[in-house]
Amino acid sequence: MFANGLSYLAIPGPSVMPDRVLRAMHRPAPNIYTGELHAITRGVIPDLKSVARTEHSVAIYIANGHGVWEAALSNVIGEGDTVLVLATGRFCEGWGEMAKGLGAKVETLDFGNSNAVDLAQVEAALKADTKGRIKAVLTVLVDTSTGVKNDIKGIRAAIDAAGHNGLLMCDCIASLGCDAYHMDDWGVDITVAASQKGLMTPPGIGFVWFNAKADAVRETMPRVSSYWDWRPRIDPDEYYKFFNGTAPTHHIYGLREALDMIAEEGLENTWARHEGLAKAIWAAIDAWSTEGPMRINVADPAARSHAVTSLRLEEGQGDALRAWCEQKMGVVLGVGLGRSPASAFLRFGHMGHVSGHMVLGFLGTVDAGLKALGIPHGSGALEAASAVLADAAGADISLP
Ligand SMILES: *Cc1c(COP(=O)(O)O)cnc(C)c1O
Repeated sequence: MFANGLSYLAIPGPSVMPDRVLRAMHRPAPNIYTGELHAITRGVIPDLKSVARTEHSVAIYIANGHGVWEAALSNVIGEGDTVLVLATGRFCEGWGEMAKGLGAKVETLDFGNSNAVDLAQVEAALKADTKGRIKAVLTVLVDTSTGVKNDIKGIRAAIDAAGHNGLLMCDCIASLGCDAYHMDDWGVDITVAASQKGLMTPPGIGFVWFNAKADAVRETMPRVSSYWDWRPRIDPDEYYKFFNGTAPTHHIYGLREALDMIAEEGLENTWARHEGLAKAIWAAIDAWSTEGPMRINVADPAARSHAVTSLRLEEGQGDALRAWCEQKMGVVLGVGLGRSPASAFLRFGHMGHVSGHMVLGFLGTVDAGLKALGIPHGSGALEAASAVLADAAGADISLP
């Protein structure tokens, strides 16, 4: 009934694509052998390094997030190597399964579905690895199934405290450009991300950032598939080798525009926007949770992502609320991925091209859905969210 008008995809990826990005991609196929596309590709490299806060190398792949998981692993992990997976939900587990498929031995520390990685357990596991069998530690900045955010700097400190030499590999697919991330300062050796979440570009290209320590491990690999090899992908002068075939032409134009938008806002401001929006969302959930079944998945605010929030209701209520919001109001919320029973869960994606009025809009929609479906809930959610945004935005306006 109220679904006509602008619809809103509030799932945790793909995220809302800005009109500017769509317009930048709406063009005929360009020449891939010479000309503008080469210059634009060269130009996105420093900006890609900047969003990961690294001075090291970045390789671009025609691949989604799963593809860059494999790309990163393929350069440093071979048959019989051991990796340590720090599981805080479905996604890091999935990366570990991919390592297993490549012949690695996978050890997992499982921190459940609502808590960040426990640094003491990481340190203890690495201390116990006296033979140095663990070649890499696999972790996620944000696990998109649970909304858990990990302390990546702390994980590096735990590795160092154990005196361990393993690589630290971090999946930032959910939240690069949303949650603060400092690859070099935090001592991450390999970072992976993809285009379709905080980077606001359609799914289809992914990125692997790697430092000299990671590349030294790459050097010792007996073989690396020529498609996944990151080495040819850092020299755009060899353009056909750089993409190992045809360039992802339109994605490069879209990405250029998206990176311009982040640069115009300022990456720190982008992070601050996501933080303010996330706090407004949590304030609404806190209000709803005072009565009835709704619970935010991660209790500790320090361990919550600013890009995605996972909630739990009673069995069936997540599905019902999602269907109501989509069918009645044109707002699409995320499914309870990797959780059981999935029908009890709900995820809000608030990554990328998301403003204050969009967040107030989907929160108001959820509030109406709770009422329409008769799901008990505390009142004042919208009041609480708008108070957070009013406070964070302040009153400094310019008048004509
Ligand atoms: C989305 C996501 C992935 C998977 O990316 P795809 O593009 O769907 O393959 C992996 N890890 C995290 C943390 C994600 O959010």
